[in-house]
Amino acid sequence: MIFQASRLIITVNHLHSLKSINRVWLQGDFRRNMHLLLNKTLINGEWVSSSSNTELAVTNPANGSIVGHVPDLDVHDVNKAIDAAHKTFHSNEWSSLTAKERSTLLKKWYLLLESNRNEIASIMTMESGKPLAESLGEITYGNSFVEWFAEEARRVYGEIIPTPQKQKRLFLTREPIGVAALITPWNFPHAMITRKASAAIAAGCTVVIKPAEDTPLTALALVKLAEEAGFPKGVFNVVTCSRKNVAAVGEALCTSKQIAGVSFTGSTEVGRILYRHCAEGIKKIGLELGGNAPFIVFESANLEKAVTGAMTSKFRNCGQACVASNRFLIQDTVSDAFTAKLLTAMKSLQVGDGKDQGVQIGPLINTAQLHKVSDIVEDARSKGAHIVVGGRPIPGKGELFYEPTVVANITPDMRLYTEEVFGPVVAILKFKTEDEALRIANDTNRGLAGYFYSENLNQVMRVSRKLEVGMVGVNEGLLSTAEAAFGGVKESGIGREGSRHGIDDYVEIKYICLGGLD
Ligand code: NAP
Repeated sequence: MIFQASRLIITVNHLHSLKSINRVWLQGDFRRNMHLLLNKTLINGEWVSSSSNTELAVTNPANGSIVGHVPDLDVHDVNKAIDAAHKTFHSNEWSSLTAKERSTLLKKWYLLLESNRNEIASIMTMESGKPLAESLGEITYGNSFVEWFAEEARRVYGEIIPTPQKQKRLFLTREPIGVAALITPWNFPHAMITRKASAAIAAGCTVVIKPAEDTPLTALALVKLAEEAGFPKGVFNVVTCSRKNVAAVGEALCTSKQIAGVSFTGSTEVGRILYRHCAEGIKKIGLELGGNAPFIVFESANLEKAVTGAMTSKFRNCGQACVASNRFLIQDTVSDAFTAKLLTAMKSLQVGDGKDQGVQIGPLINTAQLHKVSDIVEDARSKGAHIVVGGRPIPGKGELFYEPTVVANITPDMRLYTEEVFGPVVAILKFKTEDEALRIANDTNRGLAGYFYSENLNQVMRVSRKLEVGMVGVNEGLLSTAEAAFGGVKESGIGREGSRHGIDDYVEIKYICLGGLD
């Protein structure tokens, strides 16, 4: 076990990978042998530059160095990508494939993703700053969706309905919607793509992927391996672009008549814009948006387990996870004991460059994110919160590092109560009764994940039911898995990813009425 806070995603199997990646890094020019570190993007089976020949630099948030360049595509290029995906969707080469054949292609992709995990992890750590161990953990998680949907592809069943009229037979089939636009964030540059793309492909769709400006290199590595797996040209297309072009690119993806559906993971604010765009064409949309997860510790809780869960759900990816716990509600009778144990656990956290052995907390992704975290903590400080530990950037480490922080005495007027902090900040509130805890937990327009710790079975059943969220972790701080449905309620989104429901966004039910029978 190398990092308790990420205990479930960093297994002993990762240790070998970690050692070999670190060796490569220590040897100096670790990029020399990387065949997945690309500087062109994939459209219609060709690796291309942007038509304007402009590029976008990708930097390492740990030290500001340039990791690589990718094409900065504009609307003109996006339309080419959409066109390619549309032609391929209707081509015989793709549309005539059986579910089993699509499943086989997904399995080949999965095996290539597995055998190239070290190289993908290196790229991910360089562009996102997350510790190598976490990059490997994300690859295990992200690849599991490809494996899962390779299996699910063969189970996209229809229905035969008992007929009410003797001369008719009624059938429902589930048909692929067409081209799916997939827009993904930087915090999980691998898994957010595979969770969508493998479901879409399993259903029989083709895709146009728009990765985040900060992390396009992982996306390119993934589709390079999809190409090697033998997918026909035009099934995968990637639109890399800068923030300068993103609004126009997003609008083009959502309003093109050739795009049948959009799946977006990112902030609620951008999700709202894309939802509006999609309304114009009455387009199918899946939205995985921001959260404001409560983490409740009741007095019956096992505090050791609660602290372990808190460390996992708060500090993974430097707190930059949509399911990260945001507000820690601790019953007043155990509040001091929980806080003391948490502070002890936090002492062992190592902050630094994600490529260095033993580092558990990397930098924040960019300057905007650093300012957001700093401003939210300053807002709490100015309104009377108690900064128990941390509460400042760590300039000595690099420009984007922030101290693991605990802030107590949070009140509803503070941004730490109402907003997703998306950083390594634990915000603590005390409560007296279960009703009060539920009232505070549900006092938000977000409803993605919620966690609580209790050894009281009746309380477990009651609170699980009453929390207004899409996902509940009971005595558990890490709940995502390919087999389960991921998604939120309220302004945290629409639809579910993963599980057998993950294909629903990419299929339409077609009713066939066979009449005129004897
Ligand atoms: P974001 O600003 O909404 O960006 C997400 C993606 O949308 C990026 O690719 C971004 O491109 C793109 N984008 C931005 N403006 C756009 C526009 N006008 N039209 C089309 N695309 C646009 O979110 P973020 O800051 O990257 O990610 C953090 C947020 O994502 C948090 O709120 C987090 O909770 C949420 N999230 C949710 C889940 C989930 O499953 N529910 C998972 C992970 C993250 P650029 O990079 O070029 O800006």
